[in-house]
Order: sequence, then structure tokens, then C-alpha cells
Amino acid sequence: MDNVKRLQIEFTAWEAIPDGGGLADGIDAIICPGRLSDCLKKAVTRTNAAILAVRNAGEPNPFREWTDDQIAGEILRKVWEKRGRCQKCGGQRYHTRLSGYKCFTCDR
Ligand SMILES: [Zn+2]
Repeated sequence: MDNVKRLQIEFTAWEAIPDGGGLADGIDAIICPGRLSDCLKKAVTRTNAAILAVRNAGEPNPFREWTDDQIAGEILRKVWEKRGRCQKCGGQRYHTRLSGYKCFTCDR
């Protein structure tokens, strides 16, 4: 999976379940026609805005010549760095508001 897609998925989960939201919001996003695609559209907009913001940041800016995929990868790296690594396999973790942090590799 490319980094831009991964970042879009991060933002989609963010949109689907707002801060303070919970299971009901997650279910709502899945069963309501249009709600998930609405979240995805917003997530795509956010992803593009985040990449642009990094590329157009003030000098010194090492990201100016980077591709979208490289910049998305750098944003994800920072997010994952804050999140810490899986204690079992050392892999990257992602955040779900329903079950906390989970590992991409061993799903724990
Ligand atoms: Zn793991």
C-alpha cells in the first residue's frame, strides 16, 4: 500500500469517529449510506492539505522537492514515532478509538 493511501485511511478513521465518540459513531459510519464515503472525501482533502502544508513550509525546507508519497511517508513516520512500536514484534502500530493501539503486523 502506498503512503498516501495509508495517510488517507488514518484520516478516514479520524473523521468517522470524532474525539469523544465511540462504538456508535463507528457503526453509524458503516451502516449509514454515504457517511463513510463522506468521511473518505474529507480524509482525501485533509491528506492533500497536509502534504501541501509540509511541502510549502518555510525554509529551510528539505521536503520541497519530495514526491507526495515521500512526504506522506514522513508524516506517517512522525505519527508512528509518537505512537510507539508493538511490544511483541516491534512493528508499526495504528490507533483505533474502539480498541486502542493495534499492530499492523500481528494485529495485537
Ligand atoms: Zn506486532
